[in-house]
Amino acid sequence: MSYVKGLKCRECGRPFPKEPLHVCEFCFGPLEVDYLYDKIEKALSRDRIESREPNMWRYRELLPLDGDPIVGTQAGYTPLIRAKNLAQALKVKELYIKNDAVCYPSLSFKDRVVSVAISKAVEFDFKVVACASTGNLANSVAAHAAAGGIQSYIFVPHDLEQGKILGTLVYGAHLIGVRGNYDEVNRLCSEVAGKYGWAFVNINIRPYYAEGSKTFGYEIMEQLGWKMPQHIVVPMAGGSLITKINKAFKEFAMLGLVKDIHPKVYGAQAAGCAPIVTAIHEESELFRPVKPKTIAKSLAIGNPADGFYAMGVMRQSKGWGEIATDEEIVEAMILLAETEGIFTETAGGVTVAAAKKLIDQGRIPHDESVVISITGNGLKTQEVISEHLSKVKVIGPHLREFDELMKQ
Ligand SMILES: *Cc1c(COP(=O)(O)O)cnc(C)c1O
Ligand SMILES: [Zn+2]
Repeated sequence: MSYVKGLKCRECGRPFPKEPLHVCEFCFGPLEVDYLYDKIEKALSRDRIESREPNMWRYRELLPLDGDPIVGTQAGYTPLIRAKNLAQALKVKELYIKNDAVCYPSLSFKDRVVSVAISKAVEFDFKVVACASTGNLANSVAAHAAAGGIQSYIFVPHDLEQGKILGTLVYGAHLIGVRGNYDEVNRLCSEVAGKYGWAFVNINIRPYYAEGSKTFGYEIMEQLGWKMPQHIVVPMAGGSLITKINKAFKEFAMLGLVKDIHPKVYGAQAAGCAPIVTAIHEESELFRPVKPKTIAKSLAIGNPADGFYAMGVMRQSKGWGEIATDEEIVEAMILLAETEGIFTETAGGVTVAAAKKLIDQGRIPHDESVVISITGNGLKTQEVISEHLSKVKVIGPHLREFDELMKQ
């Protein structure tokens, strides 16, 4: 049973059928999935959701498939942790970490979007799936395609971290390293998609793909005891996740599943690639694309597809945006690991560092509740952090040598 009405243009509002489309043929605006909310309201309740398996498909009425998911049936429902140690370090009363560093199966929030996208691609009868990626999407598409027995072609900037490269090749994906940045990879992929007729999860079936991100927001509200947080900090690459978390808040409020307390939504970017946050700081209507230069490669999108909408979310919710330098990113990765035992990748460092600034600035008040969105795993970006950690103390297998060490 599907609750999808069809697609709708985000600019002019014109309706389109439930097909592999992504741009409006009248105004070139991006298309978005539209639902039969009246029917969903009758079908979905807190009890109904709670009775289901702990994965993202417990919200299946709000996801755009016609049938059951074909891949990624176990994705999502990651821990929401009350982070008391980090709260003390950042001087805020009530702090939570939503931890998609341990999302199944490929250890980033991209498993949420990919399980929807590939399942939808199979419903549309595509035989090959593909993507343009800054790394985590590559890992996730490769893993889910392998599990579904589907061929995958994956395009990435050639100079990605080893962990992201290995974590794609191991699944037997066709991996193409492009000499260029993500925006150049993406442009190439738009041409390939047109010519080869493949399902590019984040290009020609992007409206369906992006809906998977909403489950990150649904879970936070359910895990807070069916409540919205007062503040949430979200990392931004293309700017899709932040807009979909905001959509999740609105949908749950509209369906009467939570009370709307109008959460303030804050976006985080690396200083070396901050087109969206810069536009927020300058209070300008449009953002200027940039050439990325940052260790946070997973967020290195200089011309973000949803940047304009991400700005809208931050403004309308009365949130803000902040940036983190490479040095601040590494510091924040170590802070999160040492205070909460959570090893996040560079994107998580960006988010924690931005949250710290927002709290220090008083934008997030010390006595309110905030959720920090951790979206990826630190084992994938080891090269940035290795030189910043203390060295291993090597000894022979003798008590005497250990005693010596303890005396130092
Ligand atoms: C892709 C990605 C993001 C941001 O995604 P957008 O929806 O493009 O803004 C955040 N964190 C990590 C680790 C990612 O891989
Ligand atoms: Zn339109």
